[in-house]
Amino acid sequence: MIQTDICIIGAGPVGLFAVFEAGMLKMRCHVVDVLPQVGGQLTEIYPKKPIYDIPGYPEVNAHQLIDNLSKQIAPFHPTFTLGERVKNLTKKEDGSFEIVTSDQTTIQAKAVVIAAGLGCFEPRKPVIENLDKFEGKGILYMIKDPEVFRNKRLVLAGGGDSALDWTIFLASVASKLTLIHRNETFRGAPDSGEKVVALAAAGKMDLFLNADLQAAHGDAQLQSVSVVDRDKNIQTIEADYLIPLYGLSPKLGPISEWGLALDKNNIQVNTLDYSTSVPGIYAIGDINTYPGKLKLILSGFHEAALMAHSAYKYVYPNQKPSLKYSTISGINPF
Ligand code: FAD
Repeated sequence: MIQTDICIIGAGPVGLFAVFEAGMLKMRCHVVDVLPQVGGQLTEIYPKKPIYDIPGYPEVNAHQLIDNLSKQIAPFHPTFTLGERVKNLTKKEDGSFEIVTSDQTTIQAKAVVIAAGLGCFEPRKPVIENLDKFEGKGILYMIKDPEVFRNKRLVLAGGGDSALDWTIFLASVASKLTLIHRNETFRGAPDSGEKVVALAAAGKMDLFLNADLQAAHGDAQLQSVSVVDRDKNIQTIEADYLIPLYGLSPKLGPISEWGLALDKNNIQVNTLDYSTSVPGIYAIGDINTYPGKLKLILSGFHEAALMAHSAYKYVYPNQKPSLKYSTISGINPF
């Protein structure tokens, strides 16, 4: 059981910066994200794109901004549960909260901050025979720990950056790696596509272009995958794992069941402090809505600051937060 002052749901830029603002007021944070890495949309959708509207940075690459935020919050020693989706959020009689994830990790927190952006990123799944039967038994949609695949037979599918980057990385980890892509050319970065073609030409992996996944086979565990090409030829590839990397699409997910006032797919908040309709639960960043809301990183950072001062009063009802400039208070790790 994890115990913390604030549980932050969502490790996007706004969730990460909320750790900083809470830390400045000496509140500890535990951050949960369904993705295996921090950074939210920036890491998942546009890691290599420049951003031009972060104050103080004329230009910053999305990945760099997330790296910098991670460094900025490090002194406050936040803890993380990554690769798990928050399923249940329950308010207890004493006003604190219990948060339970898809893997049954339980977090006890005095306050909750929902920084869930566009919602849970869920994998786009291929339509193939026996998909349900082997999900979690050889078929995976995310790579949390590449070491799991050492000396295993691996089939990846997809033609975007994620499929290409993981193919390049895992080619030297897996005992045999095959990439299946339904087109002739890749959607991902051209230099990554060239590296994959070069690896295949050097015999370090197999590449099936213009081919589709057709079915998964095995007994209790996945044993092989069949692939069909444009001429309807079917080939069977022995495999311990099949990882379709067709991208992720965001869905509001379980948040809609937590009893919060919603407006379509967003959480309604009071702009005084970004509190929700449930005292002790705050919503900041892209997930919230209020008149004039701008879905920008900058807005989320501002919301995090106001939220933290209000959450302090909820966490420590008998104490007053004092606003001190960081230059004066310094960063005091705990
Ligand atoms: P997100 O970044 O969406 O992070 C939310 C996190 O919550 C996700 O990681 C998600 O997995 C997690 N999550 C959701 N539900 C759960 C759950 N139940 N359990 C566990 N985890 C959960 N903004 C700018 O200011 N400047 C720009 O130049 C800019 N360019 C953009 C370009 C593109 C292509 C896109 C798509 C967006 C751009 N934006 C830009 C918008 C910006 O990315 C968002 O405003 C920002 O990501 C919001 O941050 P967030 O932390 O609120 O949410």
